[in-house]
Amino acid sequence: MENSDVTDALDEAGRSFERSPENVEEGLDVEEAELVQLRRACRLLAAASRLLDDGYYTVVIESSFVAIERTIQFRLVHDGAMSASEVIRSHRRLYQRGAEIGLYGDAFGERLAELWNQNRTKTYYRLGIATEAQAESMRELATQIHADLVGASRVKHECLC
Ligand SMILES: [Zn+2]
Repeated sequence: MENSDVTDALDEAGRSFERSPENVEEGLDVEEAELVQLRRACRLLAAASRLLDDGYYTVVIESSFVAIERTIQFRLVHDGAMSASEVIRSHRRLYQRGAEIGLYGDAFGERLAELWNQNRTKTYYRLGIATEAQAESMRELATQIHADLVGASRVKHECLC
């Protein structure tokens, strides 16, 4: 990269992650790894609602999927089925893992994976452009899954929603 402003910005961004944390985002400063996942999901849902009002449908869909996945990860860690440091790289695999510990049925997990694939193909490669109806229904799906999986946990009082 020739432009030194860009290089400087990259340097600064790198340093910002190395410094000891201050002005931490409110609501996320929890100790337990499972609660970090939970609270991040809560925040993503809140962000999706705001962005929906602004008409940013593609980002709403993306945030909704991430909120669903963070919520599933929260339960995997909460239920002792996953270590906090584990990273599940495949979306399909994450949805399967949720089914394996009985958070929902195999068919439901498969449908989530299919939905993710459909969205990936249509939204991101511009074969289709995100619509308001898609954004609204994804936000609703994420909200329902979040409420259901968090409600069945022992720490539902930790939910920010
Ligand atoms: Zn929540």
